[in-house]
Amino acid sequence: MVETATAKTAQKAHYSFFQGVERNFDKAAKYTRFEKGILEQIKACNAIYQIKFPVRIGDKIEVIEAFRVQHSHHKLPCKGGIRYSMDVNQDEVMALAALMTYKCAIVNVPFGGAKGGITINPKNYTPFELEKITRRYASELVKKNFIGPGIDVPAPDYGTGAREMSWIADTYASLKPGEVDALGCVTGKPIAQGGVRGRTEATGLGVFYGVREMCNVAEDMQALGLTPGIKGKKVIVQGLGNVGYHAAKFFAQGGAVIVGLAEYEGGVYNANGLDLEAVVAHRKSTGSILGFPGATDFKNGFDVIEQECDILIPAALENVINADNAARIKAKIIGEGANGPLTPEADEILLAKGAIIIPDMYLNAGGVTVSYFEWLKNLSHVRFGRMDKRFSENQNSSIIATLEEMTGKKVSDIERRQLQHGPDEVDLVYSGLEDTMIGSFYEIRDAMKEHNLKDMRTAAFIVAINKVGVAYEELGIFP
Ligand code: NAD
Repeated sequence: MVETATAKTAQKAHYSFFQGVERNFDKAAKYTRFEKGILEQIKACNAIYQIKFPVRIGDKIEVIEAFRVQHSHHKLPCKGGIRYSMDVNQDEVMALAALMTYKCAIVNVPFGGAKGGITINPKNYTPFELEKITRRYASELVKKNFIGPGIDVPAPDYGTGAREMSWIADTYASLKPGEVDALGCVTGKPIAQGGVRGRTEATGLGVFYGVREMCNVAEDMQALGLTPGIKGKKVIVQGLGNVGYHAAKFFAQGGAVIVGLAEYEGGVYNANGLDLEAVVAHRKSTGSILGFPGATDFKNGFDVIEQECDILIPAALENVINADNAARIKAKIIGEGANGPLTPEADEILLAKGAIIIPDMYLNAGGVTVSYFEWLKNLSHVRFGRMDKRFSENQNSSIIATLEEMTGKKVSDIERRQLQHGPDEVDLVYSGLEDTMIGSFYEIRDAMKEHNLKDMRTAAFIVAINKVGVAYEELGIFP
């Protein structure tokens, strides 16, 4: 069902996903100073690896098709998720790899872009079969030197998670005995396997930080006819997977009202707000999002995203907002949680309506940002906070004691705990992510102002092209 919906919407675009990314790139390249050759080099996919390998499933041998695309080698390692879906094809992997290059540049993560995918529906396989497929894919990557802490570092994406990353890390480590940095060959691992706290929710949290920052700019909110601040903003989220669920959770925690939720089997809407956890529990127990008490049912989930709201977060798959439905979208702020959820036509229609689109390559960069932190942790072989948490707490205690002595007043127990607290790994990860999302937001906003643009995607591309272009210029051309 998931695949049918996506394929149908993708067919409606007149060009491929990768061509769509190229069109957006070309639009922005006009505002940069780079010569044609450099721009062509930035745009091109540097290396494309298509693999077919056999796996025994039950009593039959199945030939599995898979890909890994390294879009840019201007910084190494390359970085990008691995997707398991029947929609995986070379063009899609190329487009997603290209977006990774621009995404890393925007959030100042020193990696080139890459992406991988296996053309399977993971729901058709047992965990044992998925492990066999994943391990074989990982060993194919090792064979061709397409994976390694200094070469190319995959991560989870649609249809994969910490479990698959753990299998990949173990396969890599077995094939590279004694490689001390082996755990840095993949990110998004479970904590016990070298993962970092905060990675699971990182993309959704980054989506929240990015949208919240936009809502905090009074001038921009006034232009949209909205009040500043995230509090009370009505939000619809499409896709209750890793990105969508966590984004919705942080929006709710931040004071926004979740009014609509869409999944592949349909969607629910309640203008007064939905209790996210209750909807998730309802879906788990009944097997469907439909029928949630007090909410209006939409048998077609795509109808929910057209309902009244301030903020729409498409966090499922690409091309879901296109020439056919864009005019009916009511949201003033569209935050791209998924990669490529809007076609270029949808972009134009929504911009003409005065909406602001916060582009995927900035907004969902929280995952790769925290993946970068995980990679740093793996290379340094020490948990963030391990060296300084206690030191900070001791220092905070003596500052409190000095203040109490000087003022003759005592802080309460709650205040003492808050003031004393030294940073845990998750505190540092959240803080690094928040700083990154805020810093990059203003880099893009500055580019919008400089070039007098209403289109944030073009501004984000300008920021990315400028950084990647300078890297290529400074590297020179190898003879
Ligand atoms: P996921 O597999 O965890 O979740 C996707 C969810 O979307 C699933 O719950 C699925 O049932 C739902 N879905 C599928 N088709 C739908 C439809 N037609 N309508 C509504 N819901 C539908 O995947 P994810 O990791 O959350 O990734 C989602 C998107 O975010 C992808 O585009 C991915 O490339 C992008 N992304 C993910 C990360 C990450 O860290 N996981 C980082 C950056 C970007």
